[in-house]
Amino acid sequence: MKILKFGGSSVGTPESILRVKEIVSSRQEPSIVVVSALGGVTDQLIRASRLAAAGDVAFRDEVAQLRDRHRATCEAVVPAAGVRAVEAEMDALLDQLERICEGIYLLHVLPPKTAHEVMSFGERLSSRIVTAALPCALRYDAVDFIKTRHHGHKDEVDTGLTYDLIQQTFKGWSSAGATAVVPGFIASDASTGEITTLGRGGSDYTASLIAAALDAELLEIWTDVDGFMTADPRIIKTSYVIDEMTYEEAMELCNFGAKVIYPPTLYPVCAKGIPILIKNTFNLKAKGTIVKKTVTPGATSIKGISSIDDIALITLSGTSMVGIVGVDSRIFAALAQEQISAFLVSQSASETGISIGVSRADAARAREVLDEAFAREIESGAINPVDIREELAAVAVIGENMKQHAGIAGKLFTTLGRNGISVIALAQGAAESNISFIVERRQLRKSLNVIHDSFFLSEYQELNLFICGVGTVGGRLIEQIAQQRDKLMRTRGLKINIVGIARSTRAVFDRAGIDLAHWQERLQQDGIPIDPLRLKEEIIGMNIFNSVFVDCTASPAVAALYGDFFEHSISVVAANKIAASSDYDNYRRLKELARKRGVKWLFETNVGAGLPIIGTINDLCNSGDSIRKLEAVLSGTLNFIFNTLSANVPFSETVRMAKEQGFSEPDPRIDLSGKDVIRKLVILSREAGYEVNQEDVEANLFIPKEFFDCSEEEFWAKLPSLDADFEARRRQLEAEGKRWRFVAKMEDGKYSVSLQAVENQHSFYVLDGSNNIVLLTTERYNRHPMLIQGYGAGADVTAAGVFADIMSIANI
Ligand code: ADP
Ligand code: ASP
Ligand code: MG
Repeated sequence: MKILKFGGSSVGTPESILRVKEIVSSRQEPSIVVVSALGGVTDQLIRASRLAAAGDVAFRDEVAQLRDRHRATCEAVVPAAGVRAVEAEMDALLDQLERICEGIYLLHVLPPKTAHEVMSFGERLSSRIVTAALPCALRYDAVDFIKTRHHGHKDEVDTGLTYDLIQQTFKGWSSAGATAVVPGFIASDASTGEITTLGRGGSDYTASLIAAALDAELLEIWTDVDGFMTADPRIIKTSYVIDEMTYEEAMELCNFGAKVIYPPTLYPVCAKGIPILIKNTFNLKAKGTIVKKTVTPGATSIKGISSIDDIALITLSGTSMVGIVGVDSRIFAALAQEQISAFLVSQSASETGISIGVSRADAARAREVLDEAFAREIESGAINPVDIREELAAVAVIGENMKQHAGIAGKLFTTLGRNGISVIALAQGAAESNISFIVERRQLRKSLNVIHDSFFLSEYQELNLFICGVGTVGGRLIEQIAQQRDKLMRTRGLKINIVGIARSTRAVFDRAGIDLAHWQERLQQDGIPIDPLRLKEEIIGMNIFNSVFVDCTASPAVAALYGDFFEHSISVVAANKIAASSDYDNYRRLKELARKRGVKWLFETNVGAGLPIIGTINDLCNSGDSIRKLEAVLSGTLNFIFNTLSANVPFSETVRMAKEQGFSEPDPRIDLSGKDVIRKLVILSREAGYEVNQEDVEANLFIPKEFFDCSEEEFWAKLPSLDADFEARRRQLEAEGKRWRFVAKMEDGKYSVSLQAVENQHSFYVLDGSNNIVLLTTERYNRHPMLIQGYGAGADVTAAGVFADIMSIANI
């Protein structure tokens, strides 16, 4: 015999009830079917009774809605001949509900007894509809055989009595050949006969009690997910179904918030060794999850993760606690007296303090009872007054396999630490099948994601990007990511999500990932106005794991945000040169901060666009080499200008062309003054291990100073006045067989930039278009310096360089 339990969503709509009918009718042998209230009805009943108690007549609308919904459902699923009879029964129940609510409204009180009675109507109504909808079905009222006794603040099932009554009720039932339908969740008091309930989600428990009493072969729990999943699928989109698990594993997960099975459900069936099968009413093809005594160990070291959202931590401490005998038993006795359950207990071996995780609703009461229980010791100063910390969440990592795998706790806490999540309290059971810990509530989603990602997702690693600046480089980067995304998922197991895109005054954020085919429209439609401060707050507030801020702007205000990002464990990839070339102390501080927080700060494209210059210098230095001398042509703009200069194209024209073709900075004087090259030289020298600032670089101007002191407009107006002189010098240079190169140099603690004439033997002589070249003389590359050469500017290669930096973060 099998017991089938259908939850609220499985009976929530006429369509789903028709599915239930299909599932039940396909069985060869009759089953006992336990049903919940139609989805959402229990909540609505609670709402109605609370409104009534608060003197709000809106409770009448709630009851009217319940009447309409049940009538409509009945008409849609019950064969025409049976509709009238069911409606008459339902009307009688709803009239009774209305009278109770009117009573609550008049008296302005809602005693627990009445609250339970109101809640019971959901299952009393749904079970009538389902019985009439199924062919050949009989309704059995749970109130007659599920019996509870009042204990402390709770109604507890009297299992002995309940089992006897269930056995009597269903004696010889299966030979009658009819399906039995039983309302879940409801019961009655063994002494008074008053209606009671088994706690939210209690229909599972009803089904389990029936299964255990009748020694059923299987308990099937039909719900709206494909089975028990590795984590709550509403939070972790990549969670997946666990094929099989032990009762203990299910118990640990359910006790810690996995709503899929109501925790007390597990005891009756576990005691009888009856397996539970969790199935999806809406996806019959899914195999579901089987919960039983023993299972074959799976491949992953942990089985699942669950969490409780609203926790408070009560701490009792004091240096004299060590000497007080029986502190723990007094604490737990006091809590038990008040029916307060502790989710997690953490005590140091020195016994100077004990922290207990309780639900927030219980926190104030817990403090009161403990303050009272230890009043004498608190008064004498032996123990400090009880401390409460709120806004916390508890996470449990579960799996019997953990016993066989060493280092799970190490991996767990390293993963959390790398993402900037600190653990406030923790506990590991001696059975080693559960590690529980407490984090700040705002860190819960991120904690679950990083743990899930590192323990389960061998399939994908996720990287979440915020792209700031969508001009030529940022725009090309998004295109390149869109093109490569699928391939990276397939070949590298890397899933790149762009979770934020910002331009100077507008940004769009989406933690599920922005559709890259339509990012411009999203930015337009869903974008919010931003400034750098708001940008920082939004990104830090989203608190997404494995996140990277990608700076494709040239903005000092954006560069000023990096420190805060590092503090919040967000890596930074920058095409923006400002931070790396800023004051040396700031550069060092940022480097240190990133290192301490275990995140990356990468800026390869600051020099030579996509050319691997910084990476190469880092590799050389890290492997023990040292850079003695560096000579380089680092300005794509200046190179373009001097390569384009000819008898037909005067100097002023080459500058204009460089601007128009996007090679120069918006104000080309940043290039002409050598400022851009100075920044690059400073960055390279710092990465080579030298302490240098921009002021330390000797800047030899090749254009008179007054061109830099005027407005941009005046600059353009008087630029042609330089043409004749440049042409004369150019002609002379041509005659000597030389070319102009703007060279940056570092040697013997001296740094300079200057325009030089190079001969045709020199490695800088042949350098087309906007190419860059770097010559590194090192301890190892001594007689023949190392040479790196290639495109040093352009949106495509720069975006590709930024992309490469992003990829190298994925490898950490
Ligand atoms: P029913 O109404 O069928 O009793 P519940 O809402 O009580 O269903 O429980 C199923 C829900 O539990 C799922 O829809 C899912 O959102 C939630 N849930 C939380 N944790 C898990 C988990 N680890 N696996 C599956 N579902 C989970
Ligand atoms: N209807 C009850 C609730 O919503 C019981 C259940 O669905 O299991 O809590
Ligand atoms: Mg449930």
